[in-house]
Formats: sequence, structure tokens, C-alpha cells
Amino acid sequence: MIYLNGKFMPIHEAFVPVLDRGFIFGDGVYEVIPVYSRKLFRLNEHLNRLQHSLDGIRLKNPHSSEEWQHLLEQLIDYNDSDDQYIYLHITRGVAKRDHAFPVNVAPTIFIMSNPLLPPATALLSSGVSAITAIDNRWVRCDVKAISLLPNVLLRQLAVDVHAIETILIRDGFLTEGAASNIFVVKDNTLLAPPKSNLMLPGITYDVILELAVTHHIPHEVRQISETETRNADEILLTSSTKEVLPITTLDEKPVGDGKPSIMFNRLYTLYQDFKNTRMRDSS
Ligand code: PMP
Repeated sequence: MIYLNGKFMPIHEAFVPVLDRGFIFGDGVYEVIPVYSRKLFRLNEHLNRLQHSLDGIRLKNPHSSEEWQHLLEQLIDYNDSDDQYIYLHITRGVAKRDHAFPVNVAPTIFIMSNPLLPPATALLSSGVSAITAIDNRWVRCDVKAISLLPNVLLRQLAVDVHAIETILIRDGFLTEGAASNIFVVKDNTLLAPPKSNLMLPGITYDVILELAVTHHIPHEVRQISETETRNADEILLTSSTKEVLPITTLDEKPVGDGKPSIMFNRLYTLYQDFKNTRMRDSS
């Protein structure tokens, strides 16, 4: 079951008019929220980021946090899996085609949920490949906009060479992945690019940095040059659906010794512990 504009229905019954501004202009924002054991992971943080994205496109939030929570919990109940990921999408609604904002038009609200499967264990033990590309996106990458054409084209460059992600470099510095955040490890220090308008502030990125603080893992939040990225001992990818993955090949060259290494193993274990104690504990 999905949710569309006030109703729950099977996805094959869900239709949006062709003049929806999401279809015409990509004029909307979205969120992806993991659900573990039927509980929403970091809901407040996701709703805060949604608010930031809505503010970024000057669209009024159609619901309070309590209303969102209620809608999402109903959708979780309608779906079978205990672990799900929710895709929540809001557009500026249906109006005669004109770039200017329409007046008094209701937004389109679409929410779906799919089973959330952890990354295959083979990927965790061998690591994954990534390539690099110039970050040619707009300068509001902090807004989780549905207009993802640059991300689609950049990610496809990786898919074309059987790699899993494209790591983006802007003006000589690492920004993020086409659909993930990227961390670099050098000399046992975890390096994270600082949040700015040039990257999406990942919810998983925040969890990883909190774990680094709590567990006294040496870390620095600072700009990371392309050269540092290429000479990294380890590279880690994070996202809500992929959690944390080791990138062991970059542009066909091994990262460090080409195997998942100490920092990945540590953070992966800490992330699983964090998830299991926060989300799986029924007490
Ligand atoms: N950056 C981009 C461009 C993304 O699309 C995503 C989410 N897929 C992320 C970072 C990771 O964000 P999160 O940890 O909140 O999923």
C-alpha cells in the first residue's frame, strides 16, 4: 500500500496528473527514512531535513511532525516487512505550466514503503568499487530535491563500469557520492567533509560522526582534497539504505591494501550495535 494525497491505496491505483509540477519541473523534495522492527529511525532528524528542503524551495510544510508520524506509522502497518524504507515525496502540486509558483494549489504528497534489506554480506567482506567524476550539480545540494538528473547521470557513470558509486569532486575537493556521503581514512583518522550547500547532510553521516565522538575515534571534519581521497587508507560510503560500506577500489586502483580495513570494521560494528540497541530492543 502507498499513500497519495490523503488516501492509502495499492500502488497500481495511484496516479498523478501530467501537469503535476513534479513531473513538469522536478519541483519538489523528498526524504528516505529507514524503519527497523517497525520503528522509524531518527524520525525527528529526517523531518528536520525535510523542513530544510521545503524551506529551500519555499514550499509550506503540509503537515506537523505529529501528523507526519501518524501517516508514516499507518503506512508501516499496511506493509508486511518489519524492516522497511519509506520514500516520502512532496511536489508543488498540479497547475497550468508556468515556472512561477501557482497560487492556492495543494501540494502533491506521495509516500511509499519497500522492504529494507541490508547490503549483501559479500559486499561487506570484499568491499565495493567506485569511480570519481567532477561534481557538476547545482549549488543547493543541501536540498533533497526530486530533480535528480545530474545525480542520475553521475551515478550511471559508475553503473556503466560495474562500480557501485560515483565520488564527486568539486574544485579539487571531495563533496559526496551521487547518492551517498563519503568519508576518508588517513593514518587512523576518520575525515569527513564539512556540511555545506555543496552536499546533502546525511542522517547516516551524522550517526557515524556521533559514534566517532562517543567511542573516541580520532576524526576531523574538514575539507578533503582530491589527492587525499586518492591516497586514502580507507574510503567509506554511508546512506540510509546502504548503512556503511567499504570502498576498496577507486578508479580501478586499490584503496589502501584493497580490503575492508580497521576503521570500516569498527564503524560497521558500532553502527550495527547502535541500530540493534536503539531499534531492536523491545524493552
Ligand atoms: N548524499 C546524497 C546525494 C544522497 O542522495 C544521499 C541519500 N541517498 C545521501 C547523501 C545520504 O543521506 P542519508 O544518510 O540521509 O541517507
